[in-house]
Amino acid sequence: MPSKELPERSEIVIIGGGIIGVTIAHELAKRGEEVTVIEKRFIGSGSTFRCGTGIRQQFNDESNVQVMKRSVELWKKYSEEYGFSFEQTGYLFLLYDDDEVEEFKRNIAIQNRFGVPTRLITPEEAKDIVPLLDISEVIAASWNPTDGKADPFHSTAKFALNAERFGAKLVEYTEVKDFLIENGEIKGLKTNRGVIRTGTVINATNAWAKLINAMAGIKTKIPIEPYKHQAVITQPIKKGSINPMVISFKYGHAYLTQTAHGGVVGGVGYELGPTYDLSPTYEFLREVSYYFTKIIPALRELLILRTWAGYYAKTPDSNAAIGKIEELSDYYIAAGFSGHGFMMAPAVAEMVADLVTKGRTDLPAAWYDPYRFERGELRTTAIQMG
Ligand SMILES: Cc1cc2nc3c(=O)[nH]c(=O)nc-3n(C[C@H](O)[C@H](O)[C@H](O)COP(=O)(O)OP(=O)(O)OC[C@H]3O[C@@H](n4cnc5c(N)ncnc54)[C@H](O)[C@@H]3O)c2cc1C
Repeated sequence: MPSKELPERSEIVIIGGGIIGVTIAHELAKRGEEVTVIEKRFIGSGSTFRCGTGIRQQFNDESNVQVMKRSVELWKKYSEEYGFSFEQTGYLFLLYDDDEVEEFKRNIAIQNRFGVPTRLITPEEAKDIVPLLDISEVIAASWNPTDGKADPFHSTAKFALNAERFGAKLVEYTEVKDFLIENGEIKGLKTNRGVIRTGTVINATNAWAKLINAMAGIKTKIPIEPYKHQAVITQPIKKGSINPMVISFKYGHAYLTQTAHGGVVGGVGYELGPTYDLSPTYEFLREVSYYFTKIIPALRELLILRTWAGYYAKTPDSNAAIGKIEELSDYYIAAGFSGHGFMMAPAVAEMVADLVTKGRTDLPAAWYDPYRFERGELRTTAIQMG
């Protein structure tokens, strides 16, 4: 159970108790560091509990592929150790024209170079994997059986409980309001429940990251904006009907899969913002119904139970900002995951814990350099789902 008390001091304070903040706390506590997470609502209440469950290594650049390969190893290890569900049921990208096929061939070559076993398959092979698919317009598919999905509630809770077991403190319903800074050094944080003394702060607030940067007086331009993305869940269908995450860029940038309870969960690219509004819209309901039934016509028979919305915290190149901000000692950011932060969390936690405890990491952190925006060095835009 998260602690009720705000400690008077803590060596390291993480602002934000989503999957990113919680897994960083878990990794730091495991290494023997004194760490406290401060969360304004409850653990997981931001984007984390609203996400689509997907975990993929099918990216289009070397860094994200390497980070996600490590992340999948850690998802596997911790799901077995802590007993939460992580299923390697694959990701299936449906391709409809030659340009798409060429692009995915390039992506597959990068993935294969790092040992991710993605391959191009025929429409018939795709239909063997998901028999309900309409493949009449599909010309090929990109298939990696080692991608997968995890339950965001269960996994976040398990990481949180085990972070506490290693000595981390997780403080809920406590909002960071300001920084205490003297001569460019962090001395503490002001919250609505008093002050916590600390010298090291990690901003893991994703959609709210720019507000925390402003509180810290950071001048470096780190553009992270909140966008509204919506998701849908249907009534349950026969288990095992849609095992992998199925993606179609042609049909609305749709992604869909089946949850452990049997419902079909997913979304489309329909995006509103920048905004902090989270009310679901009728337009989304129409779009998701149209596109999902193009991909799997049998979904026409299903009842939609619920739609909801969450934030994609987006950067201009859809890659997160991860690293140390030199303007202030010692201030780190791990935010702006642009719709794929859940899957990255275990590897990002390792990367950030390396940077905090050793000042370096073997993971390709330079790709996520928070200073790249100011330098005008945007990365290849990461594949963003939905
Ligand atoms: C519809 C949808 C589908 C998605 N699908 C996927 C998917 O399939 N796979 C995937 O990998 N990702 C997916 N994502 C993205 C994923 O949800 C996020 O990237 C991820 O949850 C980010 O985690 P986080 O910990 O950085 O942020 P959050 O979970 O948002 O956590 C940030 C926390 O900071 C807290 N906070 C903010 N300000 C303060 C303050 N001042 N003081 C204290 N606490 C504060 C917030 O309350 C919040 O809990 C999806 C997102 C949406 C909306």
